[in-house]
Amino acid sequence: MAKGPTFIILLGPPASGKGTQAAQLREALELSHVASGDLFRENLGNETELGLKAKEYMDRGELVPDDITIAMVMDRLSRPDCAGGALLDGFPRTIAQAEALDAALTTQGHKIKLVPNIAVPDEVLVERVGGRRICRVCGESYHVQFNPPQKEGVCDRDGGELYQRDDDRPETVRKRLKVYWKQTSPLIDYYRDQGVLAEVNGDQPIEAVQAELRAAVEKALRVF
Ligand code: ADP
Ligand code: AMP
Repeated sequence: MAKGPTFIILLGPPASGKGTQAAQLREALELSHVASGDLFRENLGNETELGLKAKEYMDRGELVPDDITIAMVMDRLSRPDCAGGALLDGFPRTIAQAEALDAALTTQGHKIKLVPNIAVPDEVLVERVGGRRICRVCGESYHVQFNPPQKEGVCDRDGGELYQRDDDRPETVRKRLKVYWKQTSPLIDYYRDQGVLAEVNGDQPIEAVQAELRAAVEKALRVF
């Protein structure tokens, strides 16, 4: 394994498979999985002030303001389980968030090692979102057709109840895709310019995407 903590950012539009791929990759790399959407949903479940504030934006398919999001993720990254780095999923989503992350890592003498960009056509994303089911306990992502749990409606990992996210409704999904193209897709060039971007074809079976991802990780970190 390359020296220093390993920070990897999974980039890609909503429902491109970031969470699904992270669940497999984090075990192989022994990295903490930090998903900003999961953190917001956890806060919402606990009815914290942060969660209730975030809900207003999530329900509309908009991004939660940068200051709130950056503070939440930085707090998460400061915990001991992220001392060895993290697999970031859903963060950063704006240039301002990316710059804040860079600044924080630079202060600690660290940097981002790899940014796989999981590309999937919009029409495939809309189809995936319709069948997505999420565990209420751990946030693990399933699909009724493409990645079903062993027992319908129940998480394989912890037996938690699976549910359909409010913001996975078709009208909200269309808004989220618009927001992605406008506010998040500029990060592809941002990280390409830093020399850390790796293109991954997300429009193939889950295992094939994982294989491409691992090849990119191997190349960047010299592991596996
Ligand atoms: P993201 O974290 O990027 O929002 P998810 O990992 O939750 O995306 O995946 C979105 C939905 O698509 C889930 O229902 C998941 O089971 C399904 N999915 C993920 N990857 C694939 C794939 N390669 N092929 C088909 N379905 C997939
Ligand atoms: P996700 O689970 O990644 O699909 O995120 C669900 C929702 O949470 C998004 O549609 C946003 O409203 C909010 N969210 C998650 N991550 C971020 C982020 N990095 N910046 C702003 N909002 C976010």
